[in-house]
Amino acid sequence: MERFDAIVVGGGPAGCASAYVMAKAGLNVLLFERGKFAGAKNMWGGAFFGPQLNELIPEFWKEAPVERFVTRHVLSFMAENGSTSLDFKSTRFCAAPYNGFILLRAKFDGWMAQKVEQAGAIVAAGMRVDDLLFQEGRVSGVKVGDEEFPSDIVILADGVNSLLAKKAGLRSDFLPEDMKQGVKEVIELPRETIEQRFNLVNDEGAAIEFVGTCTRGLPGGGFLYTNKNSLSLGLVIELGSLVKSKLKASDLLEEFKHHPDISRLIEGGRTVEYSAHLIPCSGLAMMPKLATGGALVTGDAAALLLGTGLILEGANFAIASGMAAAQTALEAKEKNDFSAGSLSRYEQLLKESFVLQDLNTFRGAPAFLKNRRIYELYPELAFEIFEAIFQSDGMPRKGTLQVVKEIIKRRTSMISIVSDLWKARKAI
Ligand SMILES: Cc1cc2nc3c(=O)[nH]c(=O)nc-3n(C[C@H](O)[C@H](O)[C@H](O)COP(=O)(O)OP(=O)(O)OC[C@H]3O[C@@H](n4cnc5c(N)ncnc54)[C@H](O)[C@@H]3O)c2cc1C
Repeated sequence: MERFDAIVVGGGPAGCASAYVMAKAGLNVLLFERGKFAGAKNMWGGAFFGPQLNELIPEFWKEAPVERFVTRHVLSFMAENGSTSLDFKSTRFCAAPYNGFILLRAKFDGWMAQKVEQAGAIVAAGMRVDDLLFQEGRVSGVKVGDEEFPSDIVILADGVNSLLAKKAGLRSDFLPEDMKQGVKEVIELPRETIEQRFNLVNDEGAAIEFVGTCTRGLPGGGFLYTNKNSLSLGLVIELGSLVKSKLKASDLLEEFKHHPDISRLIEGGRTVEYSAHLIPCSGLAMMPKLATGGALVTGDAAALLLGTGLILEGANFAIASGMAAAQTALEAKEKNDFSAGSLSRYEQLLKESFVLQDLNTFRGAPAFLKNRRIYELYPELAFEIFEAIFQSDGMPRKGTLQVVKEIIKRRTSMISIVSDLWKARKAI
């Protein structure tokens, strides 16, 4: 039976990054992916910040299957009868090293897995790891069906539902209130139509986030990203609230598609893909133990994902944690020490990187984002204020501040707005 230096479970961004670094450094690495190919079972919204991947594979955008470069960010507060949006464009985001990338997982993960193979690792796709092997109380390999694969270290990169991290004693089930349910459609449209509708040229792309009526006031939001020849349109909704509301995410997505802001953007499009996936969203509050003897847990499996309401960063956190896990494995190999003590270096590396520093800076965000007023009240309030400002009814106008004060008074109180702003200041 062949013994591997390292076994990686999961061919998503975390697993591929980890396997790539270890294989490039000369370790004998085996990566298991349960999907028929890496990416087959995976989904995300699709806007991805690139610095971490650029460190791993310099100028990756020259060869990776990038759909578009994000040059336009829109934050839209969606009300019943319209919306109020902040539309940001930067010409600086149009050139290398770019700022954000829009990608589709099936193509992107497939490309990453190819890089892993080129680096010298074995990628075993279509093989699900069912269990861990233990020796003298520490993880010593994995089991696929009845077959055993021993190794010095196992990197767990098996995503949000990681059964293996539970078997390793690193975590328990994540709670519904700590997760968001994501649903998404990929809607095909001709390239020129997309560029006209979103005011884009060449490979420019738009990332649009929606807050408000699209989730019927439940914590969460909508997203729309422009691919080359399609749009990624979806919702993420806090799972605990969704379950309590008895609403279905798929129904809400259908409703979202019929909102006038969306329906005209997707008009004439053809849905070619539908997917659903969970997101771990409570940051540091839900982060499990990261290391045990013989095993490390990375990416979504360790809840290493940042959601501030303005941005959702999962993939580059997954890549960064995969790289830190690989670095830890390489140091452990040099010392020939794979004990929990030796592998605690992993947490140290994450603390030195943006991963744990960002999660710490925004540790208040997950609790702040549970405030229903963000989704129910403020989008409607903004809509009413701007509708009143931009409307003429033939009567003498009131001062703008007077209009704002009257609408706020009708809807809520100044004190609760100041209190929400104060909480926002501390959280995001
Ligand atoms: C709706 C939605 C929108 C998102 N939008 C964005 C976004 O715009 N930008 C962003 O940066 N992030 C986004 N994310 C988050 C991002 O997708 C994740 O943070 C990231 O994919 C985590 O990577 P990972 O490698 O840890 O896990 P995953 O990508 O989940 O990969 C885990 C892999 O492990 C495999 N696997 C699982 N169990 C086993 C097993 N037992 N044996 C073998 N293989 C196994 C799976 O098939 C999968 O390939 C979004 C997520 C969702 C759900």
